[in-house]
Amino acid sequence: MRIVVMVKQVPDTTEVRIDPKTGTLIREGVASVMNPDDRLGLETALSLKDAAGGEVIAVSMGPPQAVDVLSEAYAMGADRGVLLTDINFAGADTWATSYTLGKVVERLAAEEPVDLVICGRQAIDGDTAQIGPQLAEHLGWPQVTYVGQVRSEGDQLRAWRRLPDGDQEVLCPLPAVVTVLDTPGEPRWPRVERLLEACRPRAPLESWNAADIGAPADKTGLRGSLTQVVETFSPKTKRETRWLEGTPAEQAAALVADLREKKVL
Ligand SMILES: Cc1cc2nc3c(=O)[nH]c(=O)nc-3n(C[C@H](O)[C@H](O)[C@H](O)COP(=O)(O)OP(=O)(O)OC[C@H]3O[C@@H](n4cnc5c(N)ncnc54)[C@H](O)[C@@H]3O)c2cc1C
Repeated sequence: MRIVVMVKQVPDTTEVRIDPKTGTLIREGVASVMNPDDRLGLETALSLKDAAGGEVIAVSMGPPQAVDVLSEAYAMGADRGVLLTDINFAGADTWATSYTLGKVVERLAAEEPVDLVICGRQAIDGDTAQIGPQLAEHLGWPQVTYVGQVRSEGDQLRAWRRLPDGDQEVLCPLPAVVTVLDTPGEPRWPRVERLLEACRPRAPLESWNAADIGAPADKTGLRGSLTQVVETFSPKTKRETRWLEGTPAEQAAALVADLREKKVL
């Protein structure tokens, strides 16, 4: 199977802070890591390769330093990494991001057919969970979301979706896009010797720009974005303490009346 895995570099925190002046994420002092769901996506791809052979290609769109997540993917066992980096990609919303990732898949598929694209369910910074489904739309491929386990069956994929009320088993034709949130086992550890190999000039880690994937400037980055962020801010919380007087029954009645007035009940 030829599998493309999308991996995003994210800040190593779920408590994203926003600069009140610029409205952008505060990245200073926060280390960057591979998005946790993408580690699961890589494990899923590598397990499929272990079972049936093939090739695993990790793809990341981001600034030049995002090559670190591709080195890590290579150290985990990916065969190749492609970093998409271009000033034209800056300011992309999810639509422009998924368009750009779709163009990479199209270029890779033109080299040799791609059977499967794996995304994490969501990134811990953007948190929209939109990229996988949008990417499937751009490619015109079927999609299976919330996947916890997969098995390759010829030109089909059997997937088990983890839904709130139980698992759902799905048989899907290939090529397809899946988004994963779990794996049967722990993701494998990166191997030190491959991490060292990834730093060598001849490592199979490439860097592509907009021209390499034939992506016009008006379809990528801020220009290609369908949404515009008007303002970004941390919600202000207000605390108010009121002491209730009287017997416990009177206090309970006053509390219920107050909550009803505030439309909490
Ligand atoms: C108007 C607007 C402007 C923005 N400007 C910027 C900006 O200037 N700089 C900035 O950093 N962000 C910016 N963003 C955020 C950016 O759009 C999102 O980070 C990006 O689209 C991915 O969305 P997400 O994080 O919600 O991913 P999700 O949909 O939650 O991610 C799901 C999965 O998709 C894959 N994936 C997501 N992003 C990538 C990626 N880049 N490379 C590889 N795989 C990926 C991963 O497998 C991930 O697990 C902007 C957003 C908006 C709406």
